[in-house]
Amino acid sequence: MNMTRKVKTDTSKGTAGLCLASWRCSEHVCMFCSSKGVVATTLALLLCIVACKSKPTPTTKAALSPVLNRSLAVAEVPTAETLSDAAATQVLQKASSILRQNSCGLALSLSGSVSALNVKHSTIFSPNDYDDVCTQPGYVHVVDGINWCDGATTPNILGCSSNPGTCMVVVRYNPSVSDDPQQVDEAILWLHEYGHTRNLKHRNDSNAVMNPTIDSSHLNVSASECSAYLGVTSAASSQSAQPAAASVEDFVHRVYIHGVPFEQAKRYKSKADVKTLTAILQDHSQERYWANAVSTLGIIGTPEASEQLVSFVSRGEGNLSPAAFRAKTSAVVAMGYVLGQSGRQSVLNYLVKSADPKSWANVSWSIPSSSDTGERDLTLAKGAVAALGVSGDPKAQTALRDLQLGGRIDTAFSSQIQKSAGYALNESKAVQQKGFDAYVIANEQRRVDPAAQIETPKTKPQ
Ligand SMILES: [Zn+2]
Repeated sequence: MNMTRKVKTDTSKGTAGLCLASWRCSEHVCMFCSSKGVVATTLALLLCIVACKSKPTPTTKAALSPVLNRSLAVAEVPTAETLSDAAATQVLQKASSILRQNSCGLALSLSGSVSALNVKHSTIFSPNDYDDVCTQPGYVHVVDGINWCDGATTPNILGCSSNPGTCMVVVRYNPSVSDDPQQVDEAILWLHEYGHTRNLKHRNDSNAVMNPTIDSSHLNVSASECSAYLGVTSAASSQSAQPAAASVEDFVHRVYIHGVPFEQAKRYKSKADVKTLTAILQDHSQERYWANAVSTLGIIGTPEASEQLVSFVSRGEGNLSPAAFRAKTSAVVAMGYVLGQSGRQSVLNYLVKSADPKSWANVSWSIPSSSDTGERDLTLAKGAVAALGVSGDPKAQTALRDLQLGGRIDTAFSSQIQKSAGYALNESKAVQQKGFDAYVIANEQRRVDPAAQIETPKTKPQ
C-alpha cells in the first residue's frame, strides 16, 4: 500500500486534506508513513489532524468568512437594448462587490443565460402589464420602460419589484457605460430592487443603496440590510427624504428609481425653469436626463410646459436610444399629469386622439432596436390611455369608456387598448375620488414610507 499516494489523494478532500496540505504537517507525516506501515501511518495521520486543527492554517481562516452564492435568472423583452450574458454577469459582479465592501458575504451571479421575455408589452403601463412580465420565468426582468408601479401610473420609473417577492423589473439604466468597471449605477439599481424583493425599504442615509435615488456614492449596506440580503432575517428601514435640489437642472440630473418626486418638482414652475428644461430636451448629450425633464414638465403643467411635451414626443428621426425612447413614452404619460392638474380641453383632445395607435403613423422615429412601427404606435397609444386614466378627468372617463367598448379604435391592437382602458378607467375613478394631487402624493408616500406600507399588502410591488 502506497501511503504517500493515499495522503496526496486526501489533500483534495475534507479536514485531513486541509491539514495535510500545509508543509508543517504533510512533509513530516508523509516520510513517516511511507516507511512505517499501516498502523503507524494511521496513527500518524490522526496525530496530524489533531495538530493541524489546533493550529489554523490560512485555509481554515478563510473558511471563517463564508460567502453565500446565489444565482439569479435574468430575462429581457426582445426590444430592450441587448443585455448580453457578459453584461448581466458584470452587473451582478459589481453588485456582489458592493456587498463585499460592506462585509456582506453574498455573491450574486447569472443563472444560465439571459432569456427572452415572451410578452406583448415592452413598456409597463398597468398592473396587467406588470403581472404579464412577472409571471414569466426569471427573477430579474429587463423592460424598455416602467410607467406604473405599486398601484399608480407614474412616468419614468427605473425599477419596480415585489416587496417582498421573487420578481424585480428594471429598465436598462445607463447601459452605454456599464462596461466601465468604475460605473456602478446599474449595479446599484439592481441591488436596490433586489433589496426590495428581500423586504428592504428605503433608508434615510444619503449614501445607502436603499436610498430612493441612484448615485455612484450610494454604496452603503447596513448590517440588518445584509441580513435581509442573505435571507437571515427580513428588515425594514426608514424613509429617505431627499433634500431639495438647488436648481431645476440639478433636480433632473438626479436619478429617481421610483419616479420624479411630485412636490419637489412643483417648485420649478417659473418660465425660466421651463426654458431650462426645454433646452435640456434639445440637447442630445443630456438624453439620459430627458425622462426626468418631461416628467417634471408634466408636473409643472403650464401651457408652455405641455406645448414642449407635445413637441418633444413627435420630433426626431431614426432609431432612438433606449433613454430617448423611455423619455418619449414618459412624456405621453406626463401629459396625464398636465390634464389632471389643469383640466385643459386641448390636452384632453390630444390624449384622446393619441390613444389611437393610427394617430402616430406620421412619426419619423423608431424604437431602439427595430423599425417596427406597430410596437412604437401601440406603446405611445397605451401611454395616452394611461395618461387619460391618471388624470382623473371626468371627460377623460367618457373617452375611456368608449375605448373600453372598442368604439374608437379599429386596429390589430384594439383588444390591447380595450384592456388598458379598463384599468385606466378604474384608476381614473380612484383619482377623481381622492383628488389628483392627493392621489399622486399618497402613492409616492406609500412607496417610500414604511408606516404607510403597513396598510398595504406585502406583495405590493415597490
Ligand atoms: Zn426603492
